Amino acid sequence: MQSEGQKEIISDELLPVTDIDIRALAEIYDEKPVYLSVYLPVSGRENDHLNRIFVDSRVSAIKKALNPELRSEFEKTFEMAESSVFDEPISGEKGRIIFACSKDSFIHVYRLAVEPEQSFVLDTSPYLLPLAKMRADYEDYGVLLVDSQEARFTCIRSDITEEKKHLSTDLMNKHKKGGWSQMRFNHLRKGAIKSFLSEVAENVQGTCDQLETRGFVLAGPGEAKQQLMELLPYEFQQKVLGVIDVSIDIPRDELVEAGDAVLQESKDSESRHAAEELKTALLKGGLAAHGIEDVKAALEQARVNTLLILKDSSVAGWICERCQNLQANANPPKECDRCGGPTSAVNVVEELYEIAQRTGAKVEFVDKEDFLDSDDVVGALLRY
Ligand SMILES: [Zn+2]
Repeated sequence: MQSEGQKEIISDELLPVTDIDIRALAEIYDEKPVYLSVYLPVSGRENDHLNRIFVDSRVSAIKKALNPELRSEFEKTFEMAESSVFDEPISGEKGRIIFACSKDSFIHVYRLAVEPEQSFVLDTSPYLLPLAKMRADYEDYGVLLVDSQEARFTCIRSDITEEKKHLSTDLMNKHKKGGWSQMRFNHLRKGAIKSFLSEVAENVQGTCDQLETRGFVLAGPGEAKQQLMELLPYEFQQKVLGVIDVSIDIPRDELVEAGDAVLQESKDSESRHAAEELKTALLKGGLAAHGIEDVKAALEQARVNTLLILKDSSVAGWICERCQNLQANANPPKECDRCGGPTSAVNVVEELYEIAQRTGAKVEFVDKEDFLDSDDVVGALLRY
């Protein structure tokens, strides 16, 4: 939704995290720490109070760590971002992300329906790892809520819901009981349900194509959802992320919660699968790499198909802001040993993630118990 290099984006409505152009953000960097990144949970008075305390303490800590020239840059940047930081939340807003840099006249403000953890970081580029994790947790998906006479297809994007399709039939009206035997009535009713569900099944295809999601949750009371499942063409059965038993008039919030749980389970199983694939490839000497150095080399050559990151991992290191020379497990030297450019301390995992974004690699965050048995925090499945 945002064209490359757009300097000012101030969203005045809720935005799914999948609409944020993380690739364009990953391209941005400066030789000096001039980019401010702020993540805040914003719903409720309590958060407002906590955010003020948190932001004040981060602002003074950052000021103390900067030389006079950079401090004045930072003050200008914070002044530019401040009103967006403390702005009242709009209806349904639970989280906010702000990226700002006064020197570059750059400000992005995103209002979300999901909650990030508090973070306030000044760095040489926008701090993207929390956004990356949110994108991993909140992929767009659909929910098909169905019973024997009603079907609603809702798209859920970072907990923002949008109804895409509503079909219903009136079984009782079509088949008045008058005059028929109970058996005949039941027979006709079954036929009517089947024809309604066939209509729903035909509609699933069009709606799915329109949504561009990886799949949908099949939900509803009773047997209709299972009957529908059998009527779906094979390729759409494959898109069903899970089947859940819920009331047809389940409140919106509960539907989102139940759907999110199914999505999370499906994502976890995808991460576990990628982790298994990595282990197998490493054992057989297949197309895989592990450890910071090997994975970094593969990423820099754009050979990585899927980057696997151990959840919540971080590795201290430094980067040259001129030639992007990246070194793990070392303190930043005064100048880069390759080009003499300025260096800064970084979380190497974040830098690897950004290279993955720039080179179009998929990223999976994997739990400790599923990851490699070694101490490595990253691994990669390679294209060649
Ligand atoms: Zn360098």
